[in-house]
Amino acid sequence: MPAVTADTLSLPRLEELPEVGTAWRPVRRVVDTVKTFEGEGFPVRRPFPSKDLELADPFLLLDHLGAVEYAPGEAKGAPWHPHRGFETVTYIVDGAFEHRDTTGSGGLITDGATQWMTAGAGILHDEMPPEQLIMKGGLFHGIQLWVNLPANLKWTPPRYQPIEANDVTLLSSPDGGTLIRIIAGELGGHEGPGSTWTPITLAHVSVSPGARVSLPWAPGFNALAYSLAGNGYAGAERSLLPEGQMALFGDGDAFSLTADLVQDSRGTGNWEVLVLGGQPINEPVARYGPFVMNTRQEILQAVEDYQAGRLGTIPAQWLPHQTTADDKP
Ligand code: MN
Repeated sequence: MPAVTADTLSLPRLEELPEVGTAWRPVRRVVDTVKTFEGEGFPVRRPFPSKDLELADPFLLLDHLGAVEYAPGEAKGAPWHPHRGFETVTYIVDGAFEHRDTTGSGGLITDGATQWMTAGAGILHDEMPPEQLIMKGGLFHGIQLWVNLPANLKWTPPRYQPIEANDVTLLSSPDGGTLIRIIAGELGGHEGPGSTWTPITLAHVSVSPGARVSLPWAPGFNALAYSLAGNGYAGAERSLLPEGQMALFGDGDAFSLTADLVQDSRGTGNWEVLVLGGQPINEPVARYGPFVMNTRQEILQAVEDYQAGRLGTIPAQWLPHQTTADDKP
């Protein structure tokens, strides 16, 4: 089952934005993705970080996971590893991912659910496909976003927020042609369920073939649109935005997205777009693998703290996967 769907005609609607009098954000750039591998070797498409990292601020990384149809035995994850200094947001459109961490939190993230993990001062977590997906194979599609924390919040205690598919705030465009799922932050006066330290907005929109949606956007936020599946155009200038590309908008108070009339028949039939933006933190960024701090000294400290076990210890019942008779689900 894919991310939550709804009849847009029964939903609250965004207000129509006036063509004249709205400060439309121009498309500043369309960014291609880098194809790479994460964890045990699952393929991801990564629009950033890139050499223009500061343009994504307060975001640090976006990984597009799949969509992939795993064969039996093929699904992979990211076994126990540490993080410090930021938040990870995992949104699963199709399929499932299983999460466990050293605060004792955990759960299945599936079919439109989001897991929001504040690593803060430090945490270890385990992100794996559930056993059934490994054994039987199946569809897997999602994203992981890293949201930075400002210096005064990098030492906040770790926190875990499960956001179920039915928790997201559903809205419709004024003409009913677009379904908007607000995961976190505010859009047109409507609030999503995710609680964020750094002010951001994160939403998944499904634009019907040929439809156009105009999204009001906080003027102090940056604005990014990433095409998850299908084809469309970003902005009034209609910059082509095929699957796996990201548009970066300039300043203004709204931007528009227009779906192509012809959509990929393998997908949902709509143009699926992740829209995100936030208030830039504007602080120096020192990053090394799973740690994101302000200075090199703090990175060295993070490595040392991890090696000394100060980022948490794996609860006994979750000790690394073993293939013994005791290893029952
Ligand atoms: Mn991780």
